[in-house]
Amino acid sequence: MTEPSVFTRILRGEIPAEILAETENVFVIRDIAPQAPLHLLVIPKSGDYRDVTELAAGDPALLAEMVAIAKRVAIDYGDGDFRLVFNTGAGAGQTVFHVHAHVLGGGLAEGSLGG
Ligand code: AMP
Repeated sequence: MTEPSVFTRILRGEIPAEILAETENVFVIRDIAPQAPLHLLVIPKSGDYRDVTELAAGDPALLAEMVAIAKRVAIDYGDGDFRLVFNTGAGAGQTVFHVHAHVLGGGLAEGSLGG
């Protein structure tokens, strides 16, 4: 049996975190080590998918729901503009293998991917 991820443990209440938004399938927390003025994590409650490629193949509707929730929290907690990042694979910086989207906002226009 694999260990529950840190996100599953947060959902179970075993690790403290404020849940900023929640639907039947998805929840949102602040990243503990923010990389931007706004840095939220959109996380499926299910830990079945390790990364976004598995999620897209297995449950595209859940991926679409994550994007919709990302937009909603970017409006509720920021100015509505955001960057959505899925680190995919350890070599790309993924450390938690329970798929999650980073919602980054605030002062990103000059960033390396910002054009
Ligand atoms: P990644 O490196 O893309 O797998 O993203 C995992 C993210 O989870 C990192 O940005 C961490 O800072 C964040 N993280 C890890 N533990 C916690 C926690 N207990 N609460 C909030 N964010 C966390």
